[in-house]
Amino acid sequence: MAESVKVAVRVRPFNQREKDRGSKCCIKMTGKTSTITNLDDTSVEPKMFTFDYSYWSHDGFDVDDEGVSIPAPGSNYASQRMVFNDLGQGVLNNAFEGFNTSLFAYGQTGAGKSYSMVGYGPNKGIVPITCDELFKTVEGNTDPNMKHCVSFSMLEIYNECVRDLLIKNNPKGGLAVRQNPSIGAFYVQGLTKQVVGSYKAIEAKMEEGTSNRTVASTAMNATSSRAHTVVTITFDQIKKNEVGEETKRTSIINLVDLAGSERAGSTGATGDRLKEGANINKSLSALGNVISALADASSGKKKVMVPYRDSVLTKLLQNALGGNSKTIMIAALSPADINYDETLGTLRYADRAKQIKNKAVVNENPMD
Ligand code: ADP
Ligand code: MG
Repeated sequence: MAESVKVAVRVRPFNQREKDRGSKCCIKMTGKTSTITNLDDTSVEPKMFTFDYSYWSHDGFDVDDEGVSIPAPGSNYASQRMVFNDLGQGVLNNAFEGFNTSLFAYGQTGAGKSYSMVGYGPNKGIVPITCDELFKTVEGNTDPNMKHCVSFSMLEIYNECVRDLLIKNNPKGGLAVRQNPSIGAFYVQGLTKQVVGSYKAIEAKMEEGTSNRTVASTAMNATSSRAHTVVTITFDQIKKNEVGEETKRTSIINLVDLAGSERAGSTGATGDRLKEGANINKSLSALGNVISALADASSGKKKVMVPYRDSVLTKLLQNALGGNSKTIMIAALSPADINYDETLGTLRYADRAKQIKNKAVVNENPMD
């Protein structure tokens, strides 16, 4: 059955720069509705958007003994655990049922994509909590006829080149993206895929991958990566029946931390950085075009061409978008009035993504 992409939005606290500039909060959330107001121009009507989940993480939090941000008494602050409970748990359930799942984070640099996906310090994000819970369930398995296998890969798309983050020396120009002639799916040729036996092993791989990322500084955010990062977890469940025949259920989990969505101009980028901006925007604008085409298709428009082939990102996310996958998007929002235009852009993008419908099927096959 066709199912819509689930969309969440999350607004973070002010950062130092915003505080220094005396920023005001231009976002309000009530239930599932987020409202953005142009505080510089009161003639502009406030704009309202409704999403599957709206997370208020702007204020109203305490920090516990472990350094974890938790809701203060009586506040509606959304903690990492609460976001996991909605989004990560959904990813896990899909994985056990044998569906492909994709979770991607969209938004301006510094808006909180990596905080939600990976997290910082004790405030672990959706990805590590999901991996931890996945292994807890696997390790708790007592059925002798059930075996599990988890494997991990991690790549980066930078200037339309794919780099394997589990190797030190990538070929110049990156790894090739090829299309499987029989099933049509795109894949990265030669990408490392490592079997992992525990949460600790995944954590170590994630750290290794993170340290191999291309990190370039921009005026917006000195440590932010200007690349798209894709973690792929393949989860196999092999079950033996009474007569000893085995079937395998496979779920591919894609966890995508997209590069900043801001236009090149607003980051003070010049020269090389500008070229990157153009390429980053190439993948992101291709993603936007794919999302628009899919939204048109699901609203009943006939003969829609979905331009998956226009960028590396959309080739690799083909299944996640309008294909065999259950998909969740989390849009990260800055609360500050100075980012009004970018934040409005993010809300509009997220609003379009909501209209995409996917048809996920359980991936179950006899073992050969
Ligand atoms: P992005 O990945 O979108 O560039 P980050 O996730 O790195 O942005 O966030 C930028 C900064 O804001 C980080 O210092 C991060 O700790 C902080 N931050 C982001 N989201 C939250 C949140 N929900 N709660 C508290 N701090 C946050
Ligand atoms: Mg980031």
